[in-house]
Amino acid sequence: RIGFVRGEFVPLRDAVIPVMDRGFLFGDGVYEVTAVIEGRLVDNDHHLQRLERSLAEIGIANPFSIAAWTEIETELMRRNELRNGLIYIQVSRGVAERAFQYAEGLEPTVVMFPQFSRVQSNPLIETGGRIITVPDLRWARRDIKSTSLLAQVMAKHAVKQAGVNEAWMLDGDEITEGASSTAFIVSASNELITRNLSQDILPGITRRTIIEIAKRHGLTIVERPFSKAEVLSATEAFYTSASTIAVPVIEMDGVSVGGGAPGPVFRSLYDAYLQDIMTQPAI
Ligand code: PMP
Repeated sequence: RIGFVRGEFVPLRDAVIPVMDRGFLFGDGVYEVTAVIEGRLVDNDHHLQRLERSLAEIGIANPFSIAAWTEIETELMRRNELRNGLIYIQVSRGVAERAFQYAEGLEPTVVMFPQFSRVQSNPLIETGGRIITVPDLRWARRDIKSTSLLAQVMAKHAVKQAGVNEAWMLDGDEITEGASSTAFIVSASNELITRNLSQDILPGITRRTIIEIAKRHGLTIVERPFSKAEVLSATEAFYTSASTIAVPVIEMDGVSVGGGAPGPVFRSLYDAYLQDIMTQPAI
């Protein structure tokens, strides 16, 4: 696998980062993940705009323009013959003597690499996925896509131990979002409900596109917090992310959700999402 590390295309296994990198010492950095489906970088401009915003929020100068980022991503796809998978981007503040305070103008450390997978062939799309709820242990700026991910590492370990597919995180009685996804429910009155954007959740790029498609389909979208009890009485529930597109939820904490099978709203949104991607030109 060829990565792009500190300005060069290199075999990933040979790539090294200085131990004094602030990304390593403090988790002082942000990241982004874009799916690649049949040679298309999915929603890439929106991912790169979110990267720009994350960087700005923590005061790191964006080392590349959107066009330059896209150029490197495209070159990574070419060098790795990547047609289906993910491109990971990480930017940390840079290398310096260990101190909480940072000097302005450090050279940010950029690391990028591909991961191979067929995002569009997830078996959970047919079978549905099972989730658990866990307390949301994260900090108060969840809108920044920070590489400090301890709370998510713990949530995902609980997922593994429970033998399920994802965790939805709780702030009191309300769902914030999935450990690495955006949470949606469909109410009995056929409203599509997902939490409103704020500093409490990551502004999901797949969330954005799914809402756009849902509007086109004439669905009523309600952006507000919803409770665990509402998930149990929902006609459907699903979660979205770049790496899964969307997964229907059939069980939460061992209790059946949405009749225990993937629902029609999920299916139509998922199909429309894939269809839209395939109308775009491949790289
Ligand atoms: N919330 C969290 C906490 C995530 O980690 C992710 C995955 N990046 C998402 C939501 C979904 O975001 P996106 O659709 O942009 O992948």
